[in-house]
Amino acid sequence: MKPYDYLIVGAGLYGAVCARELTDAGKTCLVIDKREHIAGNAYTERVEGIHVHRYGAHIFHTNNSEVWDYVQRFAVFNRFINTPVANWKGEIYSLPFNMYTFRQMWGVETPEEASAKIEEQRKAAGITEPKNLEEQALSLVGRDIYEKLIKGYTEKQWGRPCDQLPAFIIRRLPVRYTFDNNYFDALYQGIPVGGYTKMVAGMLDGIEVRLGEDYLAGKAKWDGMAERVIYTGPIDAYFGYCLGSLEYRSVRFETEALDSPDFQGNAVVNYTDAETPWTRIIEHKWFEFGKDENGNDLPKTVISREYSSEWKPGDEPYYPVNDEKNGRLYAEYRKLADREQKVVFGGRLGEYRYYDMDQVIAAALNMIKGL
Ligand code: UDP
Repeated sequence: MKPYDYLIVGAGLYGAVCARELTDAGKTCLVIDKREHIAGNAYTERVEGIHVHRYGAHIFHTNNSEVWDYVQRFAVFNRFINTPVANWKGEIYSLPFNMYTFRQMWGVETPEEASAKIEEQRKAAGITEPKNLEEQALSLVGRDIYEKLIKGYTEKQWGRPCDQLPAFIIRRLPVRYTFDNNYFDALYQGIPVGGYTKMVAGMLDGIEVRLGEDYLAGKAKWDGMAERVIYTGPIDAYFGYCLGSLEYRSVRFETEALDSPDFQGNAVVNYTDAETPWTRIIEHKWFEFGKDENGNDLPKTVISREYSSEWKPGDEPYYPVNDEKNGRLYAEYRKLADREQKVVFGGRLGEYRYYDMDQVIAAALNMIKGL
């Protein structure tokens, strides 16, 4: 008999949901994480009264009512709606691509004028079946928007030319012929009041969590502690990169507290030209309307410049690079994973998928139902 039914490796959303569900079903769980904090990349930390998104902006949005109901158990969500702004060489555009953007780009006033403009550019590009991100973007929004709002940003973010990236990445963004600059097409959206760390702490309430513990560095010891393992780290790292390493994008943040109440007037500003070295600047207080928990205005502000880089060993992996080459390698790792009878691989890194938070929660809930 081992001391725990489940060892859960990783205290991010996937791990925390599994731990909650298994505990509530009467199983004993031990959660470990190699970082010194819970909540994975959704982690928020309070600085100057502001919940700083340490690993980049996390905006909860979903169409999945089951997931939305689920998270309500652990947090109250505020009314934040993501309306990012793009800055291209000092020109400001509304995102996602909507009537405000088209008006700023071409001076058009009606949806009919906007779609005529896009249609003209689409025809000129001559694409029938988009095979990559560049072709997909050109056929969705035409050349002007592609050149000013997509190409530079995407190539900085992914470190690859747009014609070598999968088309699905750009289909994450809506294109609308209405004056609606809500970035997401989701039924439900918001930020947990008090931050994501508090929400995940709620999920892990009453469950044993050990921080600063590296599973792979002491695998035999940890495996001896539980009947089964739920592993949410990178799948290739689990197998010692024996088939080669999957590619990830990493992100570096330069965060500073400023002695003024306002920096950019919006939570997210994307820098979409190729020349600006950062991809975006986050001004964290606007995720909470610039107020503290008592509704008072905050005198200072905290900003993070986000720089994208290719992942190398020792860096934090953020984004899987879901192109064909990596897809093939992942499929090989998946075969190895399927042979590990006692281990479940889950989450963005365990499944090498560009999951949003709601999808991670849905995946964890489904996995647990199938156990
Ligand atoms: N994108 C873009 N211009 C922007 C914002 C996004 O071209 O101003 C593209 C880019 O290729 C990016 C993709 O849309 O990788 C998805 O963006 P999203 O905001 O969903 O990325 P995340 O927030 O996950 O980093």
